[in-house]
Amino acid sequence: MQYDVIVIGSGPGGYVAAIRAAQLGNKTAIIEKYSVLGGTCLNVGCIPSKALLDSSEHFHNAAHTFADHGIEISAPKINIEQMINRKSGVVKKMNDGINFLMKKNKITVYNGLGSFVDKSTVNVAKADGTSEQITGKNIIIATGSKPTVLPFIPVDKTRIITSTEALNLKEVPKHLVVIGAGVIGAELGSVYARLGAKVSFVEFADSMIPTMDKTMGKELQKAIKKLGADYYFSHKVTGVVNNGDDVTVTARNSKDEEVQITGDYVLVCIGRRPYTDGLNLEAAGLTTERGKIEVDEHTLQTKVPGIYAIGDVIRGAMLAHKAEEEGVFVAETIAGQKPHINYNLIPGVVYTWPEVASVGKTEEELKAAGKAYKTGSFPFKALGRATASGDTDGLVKVLADKTTDEILGVHIIGARAADMIAEAVVAMEYRASAEDVARMSHSHPTYTEAMKEACLAATENRAIHT
Ligand code: FAD
Ligand code: NAD
Repeated sequence: MQYDVIVIGSGPGGYVAAIRAAQLGNKTAIIEKYSVLGGTCLNVGCIPSKALLDSSEHFHNAAHTFADHGIEISAPKINIEQMINRKSGVVKKMNDGINFLMKKNKITVYNGLGSFVDKSTVNVAKADGTSEQITGKNIIIATGSKPTVLPFIPVDKTRIITSTEALNLKEVPKHLVVIGAGVIGAELGSVYARLGAKVSFVEFADSMIPTMDKTMGKELQKAIKKLGADYYFSHKVTGVVNNGDDVTVTARNSKDEEVQITGDYVLVCIGRRPYTDGLNLEAAGLTTERGKIEVDEHTLQTKVPGIYAIGDVIRGAMLAHKAEEEGVFVAETIAGQKPHINYNLIPGVVYTWPEVASVGKTEEELKAAGKAYKTGSFPFKALGRATASGDTDGLVKVLADKTTDEILGVHIIGARAADMIAEAVVAMEYRASAEDVARMSHSHPTYTEAMKEACLAATENRAIHT
């Protein structure tokens, strides 16, 4: 079978690329090695983790904040089986949604492992042992990523687990040791801390979510500490041993002392690696560079004409919306259009409570670049809306060019930060100054008033409510 566009991998990069290619009139096929579409994000990533974050947040509120609102209930109990089943139901609904979109756009779905035969032919090896070869004028590689594993951390998927198993536990751990206090650690650590587990974070860097603006990490640490978590920062894990009923993590601290932490489960979340296993890239004339597929910055085309790559398998942030943007970008490039992605304005969100959301440059990046900047901050505790809801933890921090006042970065920790960041993305896309945003009317009472106030603070320190 001959196609205009073949997409390998059905995550947010792949399925979105396929839809856009089909919309543009291409005969399109998508190959997925699993029996369900949606990739990491839908099946073992963004969606199931958010479902569990929401369920655990409800439990936490029922146990700890309802009484304050004058809602009296007897102590809530966790039915972990139901919580996990609900999560699986959410995923299933969305799997069905993607199947519908494939049909609607007349995209042919092949379930099986895709591997290159040559630069325009892909073999699909199916679960029933049969295989089929298809050819494409254009091929988009969207094979995503898998958790990073280290030789001295023997992931056994029962007690020493990755995020995939953490989304399907049959019990709430008594003591969960989380190796890596990055995005997955913060989110899934929060889930189990809210459900009553003792959570210990062992982190190589000196703070949580160390790649984000330092103020965010500091504030998030305080918030998660309130759930009873403890931290081992500047600790490098050197070994993990499953003792049967419990697991011991050994780490070295900054004084080079050995520290041991024992829990009943260990969650390993130390990053993810691009995934190209089984693709047989060599047959297409492709290689990887430190695991990633190299692409041309202007076209996302590999060194082989007609073969493109997008999402987690190439450079850049490993985020679903970044993969989606690249999927649309490549489909439009193939159609001869001249699309554009502003990588500086891909927001990053951590779905803890309070949420953390960032776009643009961090203060540390501006300092390192020697850029003259000014800051404006506004705390949630000074907001009417936050006081009414009881969500007073957090702040908005705006970084603006010292001379021109152009907004260079916005970092928010607080209730609904994930949605609030969209305003900052729009403002920065249109190269707004802090004063531009400060002069726009923001509904009262809303969390977004903190954005306006932080912009007022950045322009001549004229926030009204602090
Ligand atoms: P993937 O989603 O990884 O999809 C790749 C697909 O390709 C997979 O289905 C795989 O089976 C298939 N495949 C691989 N090789 C082959 C082959 N040879 N033949 C056929 N099929 C193949 N990002 C966010 O933006 N927001 C979040 O809230 C968020 N939460 C996350 C939570 C967790 C726990 C995890 C692990 C990740 C999360 N991410 C989140 C990251 C997000 O999931 C990824 O950035 C995103 O899925 C990348 O999309 P992709 O299309 O590049 O690859
Ligand atoms: P991460 O890069 O966010 O965090 C990994 C952490 O592990 C880092 O802080 C690192 O310093 C630490 N670490 C590494 N080696 C260590 C060691 N030997 N000992 C102790 N600490 C060590 O990676 P992640 O949390 O695994 O997430 C993977 C990817 O998935 C991220 O890049 C993220 O983009 C994506 N993701 C996104 C979301 C979201 O957008 N909300 C949610 C989950 C995952």
